[in-house]
Formats: sequence, C-alpha cells, structure tokens
Amino acid sequence: MIIVMKKGVGKEELAEVKKRIRELGYRPHVIHGETRNVIGAVGDERGKAVLQSLESMPGVESVVPILRPYKLASREVHAGPSVVEVSPQVRVGGDKVIVMAGPCSVESEEQILETARAVKAAGATVLRGGAFKPRTSPYAFQGMEEEGLKLLAAARDETGLPIVTEVVNPRDVELVARYADIMQVGARNMQNFALLKMLGQLGKPVLLKRGMAGTIQEFLMCAEYILAEGNQKVMLCERGIRTFETATRNTLDISAVPVLKEQTHLPVVIDPSHATGHAHLVPSMCYAAVAAGCDGLIVEVHPHPEKAASDGPQSLRPEDFAAMMAKLRPFAEAAGRTL
Ligand code: PEP
Ligand code: MN
Repeated sequence: MIIVMKKGVGKEELAEVKKRIRELGYRPHVIHGETRNVIGAVGDERGKAVLQSLESMPGVESVVPILRPYKLASREVHAGPSVVEVSPQVRVGGDKVIVMAGPCSVESEEQILETARAVKAAGATVLRGGAFKPRTSPYAFQGMEEEGLKLLAAARDETGLPIVTEVVNPRDVELVARYADIMQVGARNMQNFALLKMLGQLGKPVLLKRGMAGTIQEFLMCAEYILAEGNQKVMLCERGIRTFETATRNTLDISAVPVLKEQTHLPVVIDPSHATGHAHLVPSMCYAAVAAGCDGLIVEVHPHPEKAASDGPQSLRPEDFAAMMAKLRPFAEAAGRTL
C-alpha cells in the first residue's frame, strides 16, 4: 500500500504513521518528495486491507494499493528517477551518463593498473574487474579472489576510481564488501534470493544484472528483494538475453531501457560487452544504449585482449575504448544528458 501524506506534514505525524504500520505487521519505507512524503508499506499481501485504517490518522491524505507485483521498485511508489550515490563524484541516475570500464577479470597488478589509468584518461568514472568469476566451466579460471580485490583497491587508491566487482557466493559478501564500492550480482545469480537479501541488509550500492532468461518482471522482483531489506541503492543492468540468434553472444534487449524507465525509478545500466560478445560490436551498442536513455554503461577493456584470462574477444583495447568515448558525447547530448 502507498500512504500518501498531506503537504507540509511534520516529523511527529510521520513517525506515528510509521509506528502504526509496524504495529500492523508491515515495513514502512518513506520516500521524501518535494512537496509531500509518501510511505510504502510492504509485507504480507494477504492482510494488506488492514492498512486502509491508516486513512483516519492525522496527516494522512489517502491510502492506495500498489498495483504492480514489485512495490518499492515501482514508479507508483517513487514517481521520479532515483539517483544512486556511489561516491560524491559518481551519482548514477542523474544527468550524467556514468561509464564503468575495466577487464572481465583482474589478472595482475600491472594489468589492472594499466587498464585503470587508461579508462580514467578516456573518461570512465568507475573501474570494473572480476575477482570472483562465475564461469560456465569449472575448469576455467575462477578469479584471483581476495588477491584480486586487493589489486582493485590499489588501483582505486592510485586513480580515485570507485570499483565495481562481482560477489558470486553469499559466504563472500562480507569479504567483497570490504573492498568494493559497488557489489555486482551476475546474470547467473539474478535469482539467488539468499544473496539478494544479504545485499539488501548490507546497504552498499548493488549492480544487479538481468538473468539471461529473466523477464523484465522477474528482474524487477529480484531488485525488490534488495529494496525490501532496506537498501535503496540498486542499479539494474541489461546484459543481453538468450535468444535463437547465434551471431552475437546474447541479444541486447535495448527496449529494456525504455520499458524499465516506464516501470521503475531505478537507474538502468547497459553492458554491451556480454550482450554482443565481440569487441567490434561494442561501440555501436554503446551509442544506441545512450540514445535510448540508459543511465550508465559497463564495458570490458583489456590492454591485451588476445592474452585475457576471460572474455578477451569482447574486450576493447584501451585505444578503441578512448575512440568510442570520444564519439559517445553527441549521443548523450541528443538524449539530454552529459558524459
Ligand atoms: C561479468 O561482468 O564479467 C559477467 C560475468 O557478467 P554476466 O554476469 O552478465 O555474465
Ligand atoms: Mn566478462
């Protein structure tokens, strides 16, 4: 249910309504608007009619049901776009399109530092790199684990770029959180509900990737798991879905950008690297994604793609990444954004 408060209502009345929501067995989530506040009350769908009684409390204007199955992720609760603050300089969901870039996997100190310096010089504002890798084959390189996290932290210390890195297993959440600025949930883990709940309790920004066979509704229900635990810092990432097409690794669902923008206030990031699987296809998908209104891009870049431990064929060389960044600006401007 959404509890719409009257304009100019004071803190005490708001606190009373929140208290009553808890007494009724629901969790209140306050969304502060410019002129009025609304409270999303979430919990067991079956008994939600009891919340209607809040209408008689001082300061309450109306109580209306949330129609979508996802509640806190929906535009019904939060009409405007939400901005996820990663650091004082990096805010995802505002006017500026944020570019995250770096290798698929952290491989060595030299590799991550060289990449970090190059992507920063080209205009990226977040460094990506996997230390825990969810690989299709158990025999493939699984990542450098904590050693990789330390190298990412060293690259952040030198460049000032915040880092996004994947957490594969709930048991590693605490470890990864000690180093990461953004906790990435990979496509293969979109519906790992135990992991999502832990990240909801952790409170750090999360980059949630869409599963390769996940519908948009399923994707938003997964975001809801994180939001319902009290963490509002969720970014959604479309990274290509599986279709009958084999010319590309996956099929980039570019229409997911306007569809998500209509249904949710959460920022939308596009990953053209995993979507296409081929470095030469990445720039055009970046331009299309920015033109379609995405809030950010996450792009794989490797100084020597032919030697990469994972995803070399889809990784841009630093010079190709820089050329792509230079060409991206007019697309951002056309979409009413900055880069
Ligand atoms: C990655 O970002 O390197 C990755 C494994 O992505 P995805 O989960 O989208 O396959
Ligand atoms: Mn990868």
